[in-house]
Amino acid sequence: TQRHSDITADFKPTFWKDIGGLDDVKNKIKQAVEWPLKMGEAFRRLGIPCPKGVLLYGPPGCAKTTLVRAAATSCHVTFLAVSCAQLYSPFVGDSEKKIAEVFQQARAGAPSILFLDEVDSLVGNRFQGNSKGGSSVQERVLSTLLNQMDGVGLRSDEAPQLKIKEGESVPASSQPQQDSISVDNSQVLVVAATNRPDMLDDALLRPGRFDRLIYVPPPDQKARVEILKIHRRRTPMSEDVDVEAIALQLDGFTGADIENICREAALLALTVDGIGATEVNQSHFDRVLKEAQPSLSTQQLLSY
Ligand code: ATP
Repeated sequence: TQRHSDITADFKPTFWKDIGGLDDVKNKIKQAVEWPLKMGEAFRRLGIPCPKGVLLYGPPGCAKTTLVRAAATSCHVTFLAVSCAQLYSPFVGDSEKKIAEVFQQARAGAPSILFLDEVDSLVGNRFQGNSKGGSSVQERVLSTLLNQMDGVGLRSDEAPQLKIKEGESVPASSQPQQDSISVDNSQVLVVAATNRPDMLDDALLRPGRFDRLIYVPPPDQKARVEILKIHRRRTPMSEDVDVEAIALQLDGFTGADIENICREAALLALTVDGIGATEVNQSHFDRVLKEAQPSLSTQQLLSY
């Protein structure tokens, strides 16, 4: 079912195995996002509070969105992705209205994950250093977001009803042991992402708001090798392609950069070998790597 056009209702299934490296981060996201959605009853039994909101932070292009989409796929819940930059408007009442609409959609699709990308562009501390604090527009936007968050959330006393379509199987290990299930349109888990955690308004990070913070780092050598291997599943690479050696040259490159390099190498194979090209070889990569620039500077990396 397609939902509103300006807000992405994202149905592209994504699997954990399609994300290279980040084992530690994957585990944290499974615990903070997947478990409360899948095992609400077990959380209740063990007295574990569900997170109110989860905040992912780290450099751009390093899989924040992809990780949350993988959690949504695994839970079979609605995944709504919203770019907060598009929600912000200087006109009185406009941003508040858009925020309310987004939450309304998330409730309509409940149980759901509402992913607020670039949340700093909506509730960033734009006026840091101004002794009077933020503007009134910003304050109203912030309080609208907090109010909306108060109206939704997973509770550990109720397990959400998972949307498992007929004929679909869920691995036994991930099946919730559900005794009592009640459908409730407040079953929305809010997950936000930012590249600029320093810009966030402190009010967002108080208890009962975004209470789980997860850093999503750029890929290390092991992750870079895994990302290249993931691309090798789609794009045939000749035996001379040395993914370890390529990965060693990719310090400061994000997952998105590596995706780009693989695409450039495949396009080069097509340019050099013609329309009949069947695979990418090491010389294609070598030529692409000569020109490639990492997205992340050392200074940027040190700022997290
Ligand atoms: P932004 O902050 O710019 O929104 P992001 O951190 O949300 O970025 P994504 O949009 O999830 O990053 O990733 C960008 C692209 O890079 C996607 O196509 C994704 O598949 C790819 N990518 C990034 N990291 C990885 C990874 N670890 N494994 C596989 N693909 C990756």
